[in-house]
Amino acid sequence: MKPLPPAPSRVFRTTLALGLALTAAACAGGPRADLKPGQVPAADSTEAGLWLVMDKAETRLKTSGRVIPDPELQAYVQDIVCRLAAEHCTHIRSYVVRRPGFNASMAPNGFMSVWSGLLLRCENEDQLATVIGHEISHYVRRHSVQRWEAMRDSLTAAQVFGIVTATAGVPLGGFAVLGAYGQVQAYSRDHEREADAMGFTLMSDNGYAPEAAPQLWENLIAEKDAAEEDKPDPFFASHPPSEERMQTLSELAAASDRHGTVDNSRFEALMARHRATWLEDELDLGHYAEMQVVLDRLKDSGTSPGVTWYYLGEVLRRDAEVEDKEEAVAALRRALTYDDVPAEAHRSLGLLLHRQGDHADARDAFENYLAVAPGADDRAMIEFYIKKLETKS
Ligand SMILES: [Zn+2]
Repeated sequence: MKPLPPAPSRVFRTTLALGLALTAAACAGGPRADLKPGQVPAADSTEAGLWLVMDKAETRLKTSGRVIPDPELQAYVQDIVCRLAAEHCTHIRSYVVRRPGFNASMAPNGFMSVWSGLLLRCENEDQLATVIGHEISHYVRRHSVQRWEAMRDSLTAAQVFGIVTATAGVPLGGFAVLGAYGQVQAYSRDHEREADAMGFTLMSDNGYAPEAAPQLWENLIAEKDAAEEDKPDPFFASHPPSEERMQTLSELAAASDRHGTVDNSRFEALMARHRATWLEDELDLGHYAEMQVVLDRLKDSGTSPGVTWYYLGEVLRRDAEVEDKEEAVAALRRALTYDDVPAEAHRSLGLLLHRQGDHADARDAFENYLAVAPGADDRAMIEFYIKKLETKS
């Protein structure tokens, strides 16, 4: 379930405020000194205007229903922020938002958002720390204000606001974000390279395994390659080519004298708690080839086997390009041998067997579904199927 976007009038008012802030303050562009811990911009500066806008975006995110209501998960991500950001820790506020796809963002006022789709793709805390270190670097280096100043001559205030808030996972409707991204692509790539290098130092200096950084990119490249066609993905459009980033991080890892390792039990316990929900969100996107890559990696790791095999089955069941559904049936049957299997695996198996004309087994599967999920929303429909199948077998 996705919350409705905010009313257009609210967006308009904030955009108007941004426009005023833009015209009220002019400031020379270019690199700036790193942000000092706790430093706030001068009240009449462009940077202050940007902070004001992002304060509002942050408030909106908090009431949007997208922030995952799991205090342990939120505290966990903030703990990694603090481990990496040192004295900047209390000035950065991280939010894990429920949203499929690989993304994270950092606003100049210290408002960081991490998408659930990103957590789903991290194999361990070291990979997650790679991303968080990257985002902290954007904050300390004050990349947003530099980007803002580069953009404001060519973009409308509404476009700028759309870009900054869309990457933060703040629900907004109707902005032409993708086109605007293209215009600042060349500029932001230098920032991405800088954030990668500084983020790598932050993670490897704080006890994380250096080789996790290129590994994360290798995984993303595998996913990108698996996509049937080049879909316009804002993440891949605004960041340097993944191959280049992986190469650079590989070289940094090879040259590093750090050998950190962390205990991943807290990471794994929290991911296991949410994995099924986040996979369900990914399934709704319908990017089956990419999802298969994510699931194959989970399968190889052996974590959440019932959940993983269920979604492997679901991808094959739902993908219209897969005509032979035998593999889907096999994956669902395998999922049902594990304790962590979602109840819906029985229902999916029933639907496939029903389609194949295996009436007796389909009826068993539907009955098993109602036995393990007696309060299911679709109970009436499943009972109807069972009745229909009784007359056939
Ligand atoms: Zn970045």
